Amino acid sequence: SKSKGKDTFSFFSNELQQEIHRRIEIELKLRQAIESQGLVIFLQPKYDFDSKQIHGAESLVRIRDQHGNIIGPDDFIPLAEETGLIHEIGRQVLRKSCEFVARCSREGEDVKIAVNVAAKQLASLGFANEVKEIINNAGINPSSIELEVTESALMNDFEQTKIVLNELSALGVTIALDDFGTGYSSLSYLKQFPIDVLKIDRSFVIDMDKNIQSHDIVTAIVNLAQSLGLKIVAEGIETQSHFNGLKALGCQLGQGYFMCRPLEMEHFFAKYVDGTAV
Ligand code: C2E
Ligand code: CA
Ligand code: CA
Ligand code: CA
Repeated sequence: SKSKGKDTFSFFSNELQQEIHRRIEIELKLRQAIESQGLVIFLQPKYDFDSKQIHGAESLVRIRDQHGNIIGPDDFIPLAEETGLIHEIGRQVLRKSCEFVARCSREGEDVKIAVNVAAKQLASLGFANEVKEIINNAGINPSSIELEVTESALMNDFEQTKIVLNELSALGVTIALDDFGTGYSSLSYLKQFPIDVLKIDRSFVIDMDKNIQSHDIVTAIVNLAQSLGLKIVAEGIETQSHFNGLKALGCQLGQGYFMCRPLEMEHFFAKYVDGTAV
């Protein structure tokens, strides 16, 4: 009936309004965070399966808003990419990560930090120079920084991305291919880009002990990495069974809630660098 049609219309319009409102609110919080030190870095340790020692960490950004609430990256990174704010976010995250490496090094600890890089950053011509400048300003060794790029970022602009990645690699930072197995990557890319590390996506790890296909995929990725001389990191390890399975396959490094959740930088420092946390 006519009235039902009207209700349906106002229902959608209301949803749309809420979505617009939500985006405006997040963009506002994002701009505030960028301008007033509201971007905070959490660090999730990477473990060595054999030694059970921590082998660096991944830097994961969050917003802390004026009320102290934490907003996760899934809620603002897509918007940051759309609006171009990702460039400034990326600079701040890299700067904070490099300063953290410098601070650890003053304490006599070599920590390697992996920083996520968005497709848009990778596609910008000055990116490698920017990275170089930030690393130099912090006075750290470039090999203390790993950049995590996704398969889809590589596909975005093949030639351009290849130039930038080669420049980065020449700087001495290492390059990890994130979320491996989820994109369209043909294996030939692995040879065409200067990749040092493959990160097995969480989706394969999650049901590798229940689903034979996932287990086979993980096995194949580990074998591939070994034959290409690449390091391998498994993400999303949530159980002892994931841990054992990956270790048995010869996977070297892993991260996940089973070992440790991402920690606030100060907490990470106290626990792993200073050794003062309980
Ligand atoms: P990602 O790079 O794949 O990062 C791994 C995500 O998995 C993180 O979520 C991490 O907290 C989460 N995680 C770690 N261990 C486990 C586990 O055992 N189980 C489960 N279910 N999840 C686990 P987070 O921090 O919410 O980040 C989400 C995504 O946001 C990241 O996915 C990355 O794509 C993006 N991101 C985070 N920080 C940055 C950044 O500084 N720059 C850019 N461009 N993107 C970022
Ligand atoms: Ca990552
Ligand atoms: Ca990942
Ligand atoms: Ca992932």
